[in-house]
Amino acid sequence: CGQCIAVCPTGALTEVNKISKVWKEINSDKVVVVQTAPAIRVALGEEFGMEPGTQVTGKMVSALKLLGFDKVYDTDFAADLTIMEEATELMHRLKHGGRLPILTSCCPGWVKFIEHNFQDMLDIPSTCKSPHEMFGTLAKTYLAEKMGHKPEDIIVVSVMPCVAKKYEAARPELGLGGTKAVDYVLTTRELAIMIKESGIDFANLQDEEFDNPLGESSGASVIFGATGGVIEAALRTAYEFMTGETLEDVEFHSLRGMDGIKEASVTINGEKINIAVCHGLGNARSILEKIQRGEANYHAIEIMACPGGCIGGGGQPYHHGDMSILKKRMQGIYNEDRGKAIRKSHENPMIKKIYEEYIGEPYGEKAHELLHTRYIPRKKM
Ligand code: SF4
Repeated sequence: CGQCIAVCPTGALTEVNKISKVWKEINSDKVVVVQTAPAIRVALGEEFGMEPGTQVTGKMVSALKLLGFDKVYDTDFAADLTIMEEATELMHRLKHGGRLPILTSCCPGWVKFIEHNFQDMLDIPSTCKSPHEMFGTLAKTYLAEKMGHKPEDIIVVSVMPCVAKKYEAARPELGLGGTKAVDYVLTTRELAIMIKESGIDFANLQDEEFDNPLGESSGASVIFGATGGVIEAALRTAYEFMTGETLEDVEFHSLRGMDGIKEASVTINGEKINIAVCHGLGNARSILEKIQRGEANYHAIEIMACPGGCIGGGGQPYHHGDMSILKKRMQGIYNEDRGKAIRKSHENPMIKKIYEEYIGEPYGEKAHELLHTRYIPRKKM
């Protein structure tokens, strides 16, 4: 149906395979950089016979280098950036009486759904671009300047668990003066095809590290891949920004798990902050209708279109609705977070550096110019 084409979280009806074009770019004179989303590193291994949830981050980086990408970066870096902006935006709305609840905006399937179906509520999603679009923007501005290249000489490829991100990359309002911030989006399955086409023995690859400066990330950014993770990551930062105190226990277990709608309250500076998390567009609709009727008292809501969040995205290895696979991927995500030395976005040294060197204040003028967007009312479906 039309609605499915517009918002289908599996994106099957709009999927366009760009593998051959990416091969051409890799073999051109352009600088081709690739970024990888949080959720793919716990699912890619399934394409090579590994258990769901196996962490293959290092092998994935190694494979991308062997495929010929000039630089291999991490969307998780930009997820940390998203948290800096989104947590500051929440604080700004709380302080200045802005409209609440704030809704997370990193899922293009869900963003398109609200644009079509709740046109009177387009001032409530966060204005933050999604992490891979933030990355694309910085690759063609900050990184281009650092590397001494023109923006048009850099090609950005995103490897995503998501088909909706192919549509998102084509949105004109996310472009940079006539060029796209992200040139190509490949899914996890499409990356696996490229690795297989190249005859790479993925299972036996040595681990390699992401390149820098856009390759360092915190555990908070990794949990973006599972339902509840974005809001948990935002809370880790918002709590410390608002109280000036250290958050000792960074794991918010009430926001985790596969329930379709989860609710929790967190007390910050004596104020109760009400949170909701939902995944699946049916659950999103019922929460939005509750807000429309004035029956909801939330301050912040995370919404993801796919079951389980991006771990269950339409570009991931097929799971055929098997929840045990999604639970294993989710566990892989939380294990990766626990293994990270830094688990809060604002403690990522590369994030501190890019604000000092280039962006200035979080949620400031340059941040708005580079990292924020707007939403467009679309025909009701
Ligand atoms: Fe894409 Fe993730 Fe949203 Fe699914 S939940 S549509 S994979 S961003």
